[in-house]
Amino acid sequence: MPLDTYTLAVTFLFGLAVGSFLNVCIHRLPRSMSISGPRSLCPHCQAVIRWYDNIPFLSYLVLRGRCRKCGEGISPRYPLVEFVSGLFTVAVLLRFGFEPVAAVMYALICALIVITFIDLDHQIIPDVITLPGIALGLALSFVLPDVSWKSSLLGILVGGGGLLAVAWGYSLLTGKDGMGGGDVKLLAMQGAFLGPGGVLFTLMAGAFVGSLVGVTLMLVQKQDRKMVVPFGPFLAIGAILYIFWGHPLVAWYMGFFRQV
Ligand SMILES: [Zn+2]
Repeated sequence: MPLDTYTLAVTFLFGLAVGSFLNVCIHRLPRSMSISGPRSLCPHCQAVIRWYDNIPFLSYLVLRGRCRKCGEGISPRYPLVEFVSGLFTVAVLLRFGFEPVAAVMYALICALIVITFIDLDHQIIPDVITLPGIALGLALSFVLPDVSWKSSLLGILVGGGGLLAVAWGYSLLTGKDGMGGGDVKLLAMQGAFLGPGGVLFTLMAGAFVGSLVGVTLMLVQKQDRKMVVPFGPFLAIGAILYIFWGHPLVAWYMGFFRQV
């Protein structure tokens, strides 16, 4: 199938619609609500949101970001998540083409989007995503040629075990709990999809981006306001960097050692 403008536009619209479902997951999973029903309600006035007010991205523009009933502002995060999901469908298609691996990577990215926003809101990473994710990643490795089952299994062990070792070391040295068990299961899930090399890259890239952001926040924010920075979103960023630029970034990094 050729990747013409029409195909990419339809793909983007599909991504917007999936993003709408991701918003439902982000809102409902931490609250132990069903993701299949009932209909979405306005969080302010509890009015049922009509289908024509629930069209991804477009409805937000038409309603100018306000509920039709009560006029309260709708969080711009809803269209943002839809837009990001749309962009990633197109990006995955451009990177992998119409191959099964594109669908697998998009599914992983969807899980990472949901995890990122739930972790930002609630400082938790739900097991209902990571544990089935680990099983799914391993199961897919038997079917798809991109990651062998041995590599997937090793990825789970390196991801789960590696971060567990770092977390133990950190709490031994500082007497504080640095990372939650949710991060360990997230990294194990990423290992199931990306293999041991991918998961090590994800951990290093995530820690690098995380410390950059952490230092910036420490410099910017006032002393009395201590902000909790969850690690999950940075692990998600690390995995996404690996999916799209892992191979050239590793080659570039290794190039430093060849020169010296
Ligand atoms: Zn309302």
